[in-house]
Amino acid sequence: KQRELEGIRDLPAVTTDGCTVSLLANIGLLSDLRVAQAHGAEGVGLYRTEFPFMSRNSFPGRVEQAAIYRKVLEGFPGLPVTIRTLDIGGDKELSYFPHPKEDNPFLGWRSMRISLDREDIFREQLAAVLLASASGRCNIMFPMISGVDEVRRIKGILEQVKEELRKDGKEFAQDIGLGVMVELPAAVLVAEMLAREVDYLSIGTNDLIQYTLACDRNNPLVKKWYDPYHPAVLHSIKKVAQAAAGAGKPASLCGEMAGEPINAVLLLGLGIRCFSLSAPNIPRVKEAIRAISLGQAEQIAGQVLRMESALSIKSYLESVQRELG
Ligand code: PEP
Ligand code: MG
Repeated sequence: KQRELEGIRDLPAVTTDGCTVSLLANIGLLSDLRVAQAHGAEGVGLYRTEFPFMSRNSFPGRVEQAAIYRKVLEGFPGLPVTIRTLDIGGDKELSYFPHPKEDNPFLGWRSMRISLDREDIFREQLAAVLLASASGRCNIMFPMISGVDEVRRIKGILEQVKEELRKDGKEFAQDIGLGVMVELPAAVLVAEMLAREVDYLSIGTNDLIQYTLACDRNNPLVKKWYDPYHPAVLHSIKKVAQAAAGAGKPASLCGEMAGEPINAVLLLGLGIRCFSLSAPNIPRVKEAIRAISLGQAEQIAGQVLRMESALSIKSYLESVQRELG
């Protein structure tokens, strides 16, 4: 089986009726680059920058960060690489950055909220991404966005950082794509507004499921309530895909959910054309996409959207999977 999958590594992820899907990799460590290349990733849809910050004893400066980001960009020459700004807090802490004790860390001071409260750290990271940007096709993505006010503030800060770099005679790419993660229910509800502000949306189902269902993604006690097949989750994904399409912008999806082939088929049918996933799952997902038509995927998604029970959706998808073989 593994050998068969290796055989499709260099084939495109295209449905039987010619709909092309992009399959990119989620990465964290530089060593993931090799794994992503080996599995035929067509770029990096999510580079989680927490990792270089977690493996140090103090905040890395812009030069040190830029050197790491450059390596990621150079790993995929000519292909898109999306660098996500720092997404700490929640369960990801930095040993050298004391974090206040919070009753509800996932509802607390995490991710973009830290970046916007600590502009010094955020500006240093933006400068680093800009300094590295000319080494490839660079996109920047912002996590934990709830609405347009944050996006506008971020864009203002980014412009200021660009201006500073220009004054210093530093060069950077002029065509950096800006994207936001849609991982809060609020972002789903204002997805049309967000789509007008940025170049692309990227749905983070890991957090979107957690926040939509008020269910800690890491707590085994509530694992059965953390359900990607809950109609609220699936209708949210559909809504975001439609919002992006309405604004003429791409919607990608970078949560773990897409790593399961039957889920990728469902998500394709819901309107997603670009997935970023853990690289070892790329060949299986590609195989499933190459075996189905867009029409079939849309039919499956249409059926699922009419269903009210997550349990029924799950068993319907299992039966579809058995049929597809
Ligand atoms: C997500 O929330 O779905 C996501 C891709 O980001 P992370 O898992 O890093 O929170
Ligand atoms: Mg997330």
